[in-house]
Amino acid sequence: MNEYDSAAVVEMLEMRGWKSSPENEAQVIIVNTCAVRQNAENRALGRLLTMARTHKDAIVGIIGCVAQEIGGELLEKYPEIAFAVGPGEIDRIPEIIQNLDRKPRLDVDRLTGCGLRAKVEEGDLKAFVAISRGCENFCSYCIVPYVRGKLRGRPMSDIIDEINRDVDLGVREITMLGQNVNSYVDPATGEDFAGLLEKACDIAGLARIRFVTSHPRDMSDRIIDAIAYLPKVCEAIHLPVQSGSTRILQAMNRGYSREYYLDLIDKIIHKIPDVALTTDIIAGFPGETDEDFLDTVSLYERVGYASSFAFRYSVRPGTAAADFDDDVPENVKISRLERIITLGQKYAVKFSSSLIGKSREILVEGESNKNPGMQYGYDRAGRRVLFDGKNRLRGSLIRVIITNADKWFITGKIE
Ligand code: SAH
Ligand code: SF4
Repeated sequence: MNEYDSAAVVEMLEMRGWKSSPENEAQVIIVNTCAVRQNAENRALGRLLTMARTHKDAIVGIIGCVAQEIGGELLEKYPEIAFAVGPGEIDRIPEIIQNLDRKPRLDVDRLTGCGLRAKVEEGDLKAFVAISRGCENFCSYCIVPYVRGKLRGRPMSDIIDEINRDVDLGVREITMLGQNVNSYVDPATGEDFAGLLEKACDIAGLARIRFVTSHPRDMSDRIIDAIAYLPKVCEAIHLPVQSGSTRILQAMNRGYSREYYLDLIDKIIHKIPDVALTTDIIAGFPGETDEDFLDTVSLYERVGYASSFAFRYSVRPGTAAADFDDDVPENVKISRLERIITLGQKYAVKFSSSLIGKSREILVEGESNKNPGMQYGYDRAGRRVLFDGKNRLRGSLIRVIITNADKWFITGKIE
């Protein structure tokens, strides 16, 4: 989402005559920030202050979720920061750069995303398209609802316009973005996410559609059917579980139990046998016992995710869980995290190996730099596949039989 927002800011500025430049020649430097974990926040602030102090003649501003969270304080504390703009007001950045009045812009619910266009670089085959902004699920650990505001669906006609523009510029694959794409509703017509997928499939020239993130609670049969039957929609579902323990899921306010989640997985696999399932896991949430954690391990093994992101629990100010006792010792959080990462690698290899002998649809990217004479592309699960073959057109869809598969290194032969 931040990549999308940054590309939208670049597009807005370029439309007004600004040009991208190397950091040391820049007149304006904008740091887009993530507040989802303390680590991300620390890194963003470190980077911002270093740049502001190194490039004293440049106007240096902060945008994104850290700006929303503490932008006012930052402007007071650091005179070298010129502006602070939350994710709900990024469309005003060109005007803010002109005024430079050092008022933080933090109206978190303002923007619907309508009218935003993310810059597409020449030759890009893939692009992001935001379909909604904000989230109102209030998972107890999560800062997103506070810094990105209420869930606002972007008008479907505007989403389709942006995809059409991307396709005109040569894009073949789009990834629809939202904190919870399954609860998307078109504010103009009331149409749902399945309706949006259907409409996007009608765009000639668009080869593939992906989407993140799906919330397990809101994954309806209609959406599963749309993924199953719409040919351009890739069978890859990122379905964060966070924990395999119903007790912890409750404390997280996720709105589902372990049993519900596993039933959902069974239903999805039944309707979409080829599906690649991926997830997010939080290790060491307050109150997580060894037994709870083993529930997460067993759920992971039962689903056998194609890949996953795992995180150590990080306290976020203002969230409900910030009032819980952060009682899992740091070394336990780390060892649980490592265990999930190891598990992740095992199942990633298993998934890749399961592809051997199969015919996969590949979106061709072109010649591989690291493997001269070979070409590469991505399959519908998002795995990078190397194949022997010259002069295949970049952006075309071909079929490749997989001959060899390591964790992330998969090779095949053109069918
Ligand atoms: N809307 C998406 C993604 C939200 S943020 C969803 O609901 O899945 C991406 C991931 O960051 C989350 O899935 C979660 O695993 C992780 N995350 C969010 N807050 C966190 C926190 N306080 N500590 C550790 N991980 C966190
Ligand atoms: Fe955060 Fe939960 Fe919303 Fe995802 S669904 S952004 S984890 S509050």
